[in-house]
Amino acid sequence: MEALRDGDCWFLRLDKDEDLFSTLEEWAAKEGLKSGHMSGIGALKDCELGFYHLADKHYDRKVFPNEAELLSLDGNLSFLDGKPFFHIHTVLGDEEFRAYGGHLFSAKVAVTCEINFRPFNADIKRTPNEEIGLNLLSFCKAGH
Ligand code: ZN
Repeated sequence: MEALRDGDCWFLRLDKDEDLFSTLEEWAAKEGLKSGHMSGIGALKDCELGFYHLADKHYDRKVFPNEAELLSLDGNLSFLDGKPFFHIHTVLGDEEFRAYGGHLFSAKVAVTCEINFRPFNADIKRTPNEEIGLNLLSFCKAGH
């Protein structure tokens, strides 16, 4: 991966066969990033997507091993259990030009992945929410 900082924003290029999440997490930790928003395009493979069922609080998961156009990646950075945590949703496209997508659990770069990242200054953590069954964004400031 190569990262270019331009003012407050970053431009990232992830390379073929890199693991999307571990590469981003290592970069965020190295740069001391606290939170932010990201978007991206490129091509991914070995994507595990999820659809969340609130009624029984579980994800249906499905792995798509084939190379896919990364039509849209949208996500954010926060902290979970003291570590950088990227929450990413994606729309992928197959060779028949069909689109599919969901919550992204894991993926590798198939060709390249081009990401814009805009950091925020706030320490944003995720905390468990019993009703929803997920770790939701928590904007509570320390000491308040
Ligand atoms: Zn999600």
